[in-house]
Amino acid sequence: MQKPVIVVHGGAGTWQPERSQPGLEGVKKAAETGFDVMMNGGSAVDAVVEAVAVMEDDGAFNAGYGSTLNIEKRAEMEASVMDGRNLQAGAAGLLKDVRNPVRLARIVMEKTDHVFVVGEGAEKLANLFKLERRNPLTELRIKYYEQQKQAMLEGKSELPKLASLVKSHPELFDLETVGAVALDKEGNVAAATSTGGFPLKLPGRIGDSPLIGCGTYADNRSGACSATGIGEIAIRLVLAKTVCNYMENGKTAQDAVEDAIRLVNTRMAGIPNSMGLIAVNTRGEIGAAHNSANLCWAYFMPKMREPAASLTAKILK
Ligand code: ASP
Repeated sequence: MQKPVIVVHGGAGTWQPERSQPGLEGVKKAAETGFDVMMNGGSAVDAVVEAVAVMEDDGAFNAGYGSTLNIEKRAEMEASVMDGRNLQAGAAGLLKDVRNPVRLARIVMEKTDHVFVVGEGAEKLANLFKLERRNPLTELRIKYYEQQKQAMLEGKSELPKLASLVKSHPELFDLETVGAVALDKEGNVAAATSTGGFPLKLPGRIGDSPLIGCGTYADNRSGACSATGIGEIAIRLVLAKTVCNYMENGKTAQDAVEDAIRLVNTRMAGIPNSMGLIAVNTRGEIGAAHNSANLCWAYFMPKMREPAASLTAKILK
C-alpha cells in the first residue's frame, strides 16, 4: 500500500490549447502542495483543503479567483469538504467574494453543527472567522460572459434548458471546477471540491460541487471522490457517493470511476453532458475517468519525483 496519495482535478470540459499550460501547471502545483502537507504530518483533510485553495487562487480555474459568472454577471461560488474518518462534512454556497470558499466549507464542517450554509449567513460566518476577501472577477471570465450572452441574445441558446443550451454552445463545456481527494499516512481519506458553477447559471442555482454525495464524498470504508461537469447530472445520480459505493463493494478506484461514467452515459443518454471523476481508495489506488473531451488532473504519490499531470484520463463516450 502506498501512502500518502493525492489526486486533484482542475475540471472536465474542453481545455483550449492556449489555456492548457496554465491548467497543467496549476494542477501540478496543487498536487505538490497537498502531498507536501501530508508528508509533513498533515491530514488528508489538510491536504485536500490546501490543494483546492491553491487552485482557487490560481485564476486558471473556475473556482475562487477566476470563477465563472452567472447570468447577472456575478460570481456565486460554492465549495465542500468531507472527512472520511468520521463522515464530517461542510459546504458553503452563493459566495460573492470569499477568497477561498473551501476554507469556509471547512469552517462549516469543524466550527458549526451544520453541513451546508449559503448566502448572507455564509458571508457572516466568513466575517466571524476573518476569512480573506478577493474579487473573483477576471478579464477572461468577463470576455466569456459577453460571448455567451451574445450567443444567447441571438437565440442560439435557451435557459434553463440545459440540454439545448450545451448543444448549441459547446464552449459551455469549458468547466474548470477544482477538486482533490487524498489518503494520508494514517490511512484516512478526504475530498474537497470548489467551483464558480455553470456559466450563465441562474442566480441562486446550486450545483453538485457543494452537495455532499453529489460532487464530493469521502468515507474511510471505501475512499474519496470529487466530480466535475454538469452539476445537475451529478446531483441526479448522486455521483460521488455512487463511486464510493462501488469502491466499498470491491471495485478498484479506476473501475469505480469508469463504471460511474458508464452510468452517466446510459442513464443520461441523449442529454449532452460532460462529466469527470477522480477517486482514491483506502489502499492508495487512484482512478480518473471522463466523458468530456478533457479532464485536467494530476496525482502525486510516494516514489514519484514530481506530480504527473494530464489533460486526459480514461475517456468513455
Ligand atoms: N460541476 C460544476 C457545476 O455544475 C461545474 C464544473 O464542474 O465545472 O456547478
